[in-house]
Amino acid sequence: MDTLADIESLLQARGIPMRLPLAQAQVLIATALVGRELGVERVELSSAAGRHLAADVLIDHPLPAFDNSAMDGYAYSAAAATERQAAFTLRCVGESRAGARYSGQLAAGQCVRISTGAVMPAGADTVVMQEHTARDGDQVQVLSAPAPGANVRRAGEECAAGSRLLARGGRLHARGLSLAATAGSSALRVLRQPRVAILSGGDELVAPGGSLQPGQIYDSNSQLLAALVAEAGGRALPVAAAQRDDPDGLLDALTRCASAADLILTTGGASVGDHDHLPALLLRHGCVHFWKIQLKPGMPALFGELAGKPVLALPGNPVSAYITFRALAWPAIRALLGLPPPQPRRWLARLEEPLVKRHPRGEHLRGSAWIDAQGQCRVRALQGQESHRVLSLAAANVILPLPEGPAEWPAGALVAVESIGLEEADDHP
Ligand code: AMP
Ligand code: MG
Repeated sequence: MDTLADIESLLQARGIPMRLPLAQAQVLIATALVGRELGVERVELSSAAGRHLAADVLIDHPLPAFDNSAMDGYAYSAAAATERQAAFTLRCVGESRAGARYSGQLAAGQCVRISTGAVMPAGADTVVMQEHTARDGDQVQVLSAPAPGANVRRAGEECAAGSRLLARGGRLHARGLSLAATAGSSALRVLRQPRVAILSGGDELVAPGGSLQPGQIYDSNSQLLAALVAEAGGRALPVAAAQRDDPDGLLDALTRCASAADLILTTGGASVGDHDHLPALLLRHGCVHFWKIQLKPGMPALFGELAGKPVLALPGNPVSAYITFRALAWPAIRALLGLPPPQPRRWLARLEEPLVKRHPRGEHLRGSAWIDAQGQCRVRALQGQESHRVLSLAAANVILPLPEGPAEWPAGALVAVESIGLEEADDHP
């Protein structure tokens, strides 16, 4: 196999960028994926949760569609109700139930028993709630008259016919699905999800559930990445057993993945160790768009292609895999969906403790943010930022993206933080 020096000089000879700033790496990914958007499919509403809309959802009727009651009570005409007194009596002439309207016309002094959501009868404009009445046969005494027009939901008060309820590109969550159903849609046009193959590699890896021999660890990255793929809007293919650090086996596995997936994510074996075979494999059998980025953690990340399919080789350390997923794989999945790069929700928080960054790379720290008694958002970088520290990864509720270049921030400085949940980024209006 090629030595590290061989690979680096080959990359140099071919003008393949190395150690590039994160923003440039993201541009190379977006550029390589132009024209590979996967298009659109139609899915039943019941299986549309988590999908991205391929078209606006419009409603063809106003909301509400008709004047209806907001209460269980009695509908009547405020103007025609005897005199304006605190209490008066009406004669109940029928009922308007949700789904079965009262078809007559109310005359002065009459009322109709009405339930929440039932059509307002012709001639009525006000509903008195049941609790403010006393009934005796067909006589309904209004004990406390509401304001004229009270307790009525007006047709069109939420939106007019033809309004856009949901926008293309938006993510379908429970509330959005309810809106689509409100518009009467039984199926929706959604963006096709990239099928993402996940390939963990390392002789030390054992699938969870197996028993560990000395020196072995459980493969946690496969689960991490599969869940992140779903959060990002992709579809993770079933996770296979971790690959050995063996170039032939790895190449076979990668080739199989390439035939089934739109994107391949690997973890482990992308760095410069003697058993890190991915850079040489991709150089020899596919292509490399870049290797190594100026980001901590996650420096050894590589982006290339094999058998015409994009391959993101992420580092094996779990925190590095997580951070490079956010920084590189998430934008790649969105590009394949046909969406612009993700915009994680960001806000400013006051640093609880000073921060010093001496190295020139960008750094994405795991942080814990909270709102103090004064309503200020505060943040602390968690203890244990090394890239194997899985506990601080699980404990974090924000990422602190520190820019490239050495810098210092005193306690109390305002710094940007990003929400940890990928789905929240889709909640932008
Ligand atoms: P590598 O990128 O192969 O040099 O691996 C870097 C570190 O990440 C090593 O300590 C590996 O044991 C660990 N590692 C690699 N792959 C995984 C995985 N799938 N799950 C958990 N840890 C891993
Ligand atoms: Mg390894």
